[in-house]
Formats: sequence, C-alpha cells, structure tokens
Amino acid sequence: TFLVHREGWIEVICGGMFSGKSEELIRRIRRAQIAKLRVKAFKPAIDDRYHREAIASHNGLVADAEAVRNASEILAGVAPETDVVAIDEVQFFEPEIVEICQKLADQGKRVICAGLDQDFRGQPFGPTPLLLAVAEYVTKLQAICVRCGGPASRTQRIINGRPAAVDEPVIQVGASEQYEARCRHCHEVLK
Ligand code: ADP
Ligand code: ZN
Repeated sequence: TFLVHREGWIEVICGGMFSGKSEELIRRIRRAQIAKLRVKAFKPAIDDRYHREAIASHNGLVADAEAVRNASEILAGVAPETDVVAIDEVQFFEPEIVEICQKLADQGKRVICAGLDQDFRGQPFGPTPLLLAVAEYVTKLQAICVRCGGPASRTQRIINGRPAAVDEPVIQVGASEQYEARCRHCHEVLK
C-alpha cells in the first residue's frame, strides 16, 4: 500500500533579462489565486526598509509582494496557512535562501522562485544554480536576441555605450548603464 502523497515542492523559473520570468511568475500566482490557494510573494528590498511592493514584468503585469532585506525575513513572513510562496529576483538573496526554500517545501508549501541564472558575464548567478539543482520543476525561458533575433539566454550589460568588462563594478556612480537580451553568439564581455 502507498502512503497518502504529500504536497510541497520547489519550482524555478530562470533565464536572462526580458525572457518573461516575472510574467510567468505572475501567471502562476494568478492561477493559484483562482484556485483559492493562499499566496505570499516576496522580492528583495532595494533599500533598507521593510515594505509592501509589487512584482512587475516588462509588459506591465503586477502582483502584490513584500520587499524583504534577507532570506530569513521570508521564513518569518510566511504564515502556517500559506499554500504558495513566490519569490522574484531570487539571484539577489544569500545562499541561505536555498535552505529556506527547502524547509518551506518540506512543510508542504509550493515554492516558486524566479531569477537570473547567469550574470552579465554569462557566469552562474548567486543561489539560482543551487536552487535549480534541488528543485522538482525547472523552466528555462529565452528572450529574443536584440542583435540577431535568435533565442537569447544571456544578458548584455552596456556601460556608456560599450560592452561591460569582466571586472566592471556592479554599481558605477555617474555611468549610464543598460541591459539587453542577447544570445550566446552576440553576447560580449570585454576582457
Ligand atoms: P524578465 O522577468 O525575465 O526580465 P519580464 O517578464 O519582465 O521578463 O518581461 C517579459 C516581456 O518583456 C515580454 O513579454 C516582452 O513584452 C518584453 N520584451 C522586451 N524586450 C524583449 C526581448 N528582447 N525579448 C523578449 N521579450 C522582450
Ligand atoms: Zn544573437
């Protein structure tokens, strides 16, 4: 005989910028809400305050979220009755996010994480690769390469009109910075 099966697992939505990660996360949140599941969504806070925020996609969809300063605030922000935990921009959290997602999934919650799997150099980004390894379900999305129209897995960082260098600081005061979707072949990193 079988045990009664239990709920709880991890889903990861990854890809480069503009690949539709937030769009897909919001779609899953909406569908869970239609199913009358209790959803709690989080994103990393840009500043130091704790506040209500929204997950927003580049094509204008939004979902309510709480902005948190670190991964342990997610654990604190999930109620026992929460069914679904959604986390956007998961690459910005500390490695501790992995254990927290595992714990929530073990408790029976459906955990959906969305985030960049590669940084602007094309290297694995923060905790996302670790989450991909422990997730039950993985969705890797492609954007459209702005150079050739092919499937874009990478994010091109451009500073003052030229490709960013490998060792370029993440924050540069006074520099104009942009990001573009590019495929492997059109992606450039200055040495
Ligand atoms: P992500 O969260 O992965 O950055 P979003 O869900 O915020 O992506 O945005 C996806 C939307 O971005 C697409 O539905 C499309 O409207 C828009 N978009 C803009 N540039 C591109 C591009 N180069 N490739 C694909 N979609 C793009
Ligand atoms: Zn290309």
